[in-house]
Amino acid sequence: SGRLTGMAKKKALAHVGVLGAGTMGTGIAQLAASAGHAVHVYDTNQGALTRARQQIENVLARLVEKKRMEPEEAAAIEARIEYGAGLESLGASGVIVEAIVEDLSMKRAAFRRLEQIVPEDALLTTNTSSLSVTAIARGCRRPERLLGLHFFNPAPVMPLVEVVPGMLTDPELVSRGQQLVESWGKVAVRAMDTPGFIVNRVARPFYLEALRLLEEGVADAATIDWSLREIGGFRMGPFELMDLIGNDVNYAVSESVFAAFFYDPRFRPSLLQKRMVEAGLLGRKTDRGFYDYDPQAARPEPHRDRELGQGIVDRVLALLINEAADALLLGVASARDLELAMTQGTNYPQGLLAWANQIGLNVVLRRLESLHREYGDDRYRPNPLLRRLVEAGRPFPLDGA
Ligand code: NAD
Repeated sequence: SGRLTGMAKKKALAHVGVLGAGTMGTGIAQLAASAGHAVHVYDTNQGALTRARQQIENVLARLVEKKRMEPEEAAAIEARIEYGAGLESLGASGVIVEAIVEDLSMKRAAFRRLEQIVPEDALLTTNTSSLSVTAIARGCRRPERLLGLHFFNPAPVMPLVEVVPGMLTDPELVSRGQQLVESWGKVAVRAMDTPGFIVNRVARPFYLEALRLLEEGVADAATIDWSLREIGGFRMGPFELMDLIGNDVNYAVSESVFAAFFYDPRFRPSLLQKRMVEAGLLGRKTDRGFYDYDPQAARPEPHRDRELGQGIVDRVLALLINEAADALLLGVASARDLELAMTQGTNYPQGLLAWANQIGLNVVLRRLESLHREYGDDRYRPNPLLRRLVEAGRPFPLDGA
């Protein structure tokens, strides 16, 4: 009967339909199949489907080579994935993960068609990074069926998923979505449907303030990166990270978050980065961004000046903490989820709220006030929650974090 239960359990696993076989769709298909689901992938571009299959085979072959997976398991995962010839191939899906181009009207149209072919109780999810889940759901006959599930790249590796209910999403689906990604081994956090959700919002100053420091000539890219790595304890510095992400992609996120916040100066993008995109200095993928990746090129040495480095870290960190405070104040996420998101989604050495408590909220507030005075720019205005807590002599509440 143990075997029967096992079989019954297997049978109960929903078929997962992945729409879009680009970077994210491919990773999500691999992830769902690894968790035991039958997966159906569809992309309007046949070439993308061929590349997706090849990519998954390559990744699994490497895992087998490194003895991190049995060859039988790799074969079983591959066998669970079907690459469909039409949208109808997703018709048996109990769960849909949409990962097509970041375009509102295309996503709405896709869900309108999907809704007609999937079972009535299928869970519809979108992997959008920058669009409103609520706005995408407007394309559905039943908008309460749609949920945001924001994976990070590469989806099989990155532990975090932001679970984002739209304004009309059925609360029961939110729990279903959360349980689903947890059953795939992910850390799920709940985020309100606001621009950038948690990570892409709270992390903005890591890039923007570093760019500002570079533009002002406070230090060069190598020194700023060194400071945040060596003194701040971040896994990567902002410039090497932007070069890795691609300046085009990183700039597009900044621009979209800025516009979505009605041009709040806190999110003002960098003119320097815009020019770099215009020049095609996109980073690693074009062999040149903030750094030159030509194998012959010498890597610039940072000025290992600890006092300067500490000043850079203090400034960037104060702005990051200010964003975390704002997200907490506005109920974008709980303190626990804010901390999880920044440590699991972007590898921060610790959560920003706990970090702020450690530094002392009064110290952080004073840094922001001093920047605000110096620049007269609303970009540096201290968050009211930070101010209130300092006045009350209390730290950020971290219950359950
Ligand atoms: P991508 O360009 O690599 O892939 C998109 C795929 O969708 C392409 O293969 C394209 O042919 C296909 N497509 C376009 N319209 C389609 C349609 N109507 N039906 C079926 N397929 C269609 O893009 P990506 O980087 O994988 O991003 C996909 C989604 O995931 C976007 O919403 C993006 O914002 C989001 N996202 C991306 C990342 C990332 O780091 N790349 C991270 C999280 C979320």
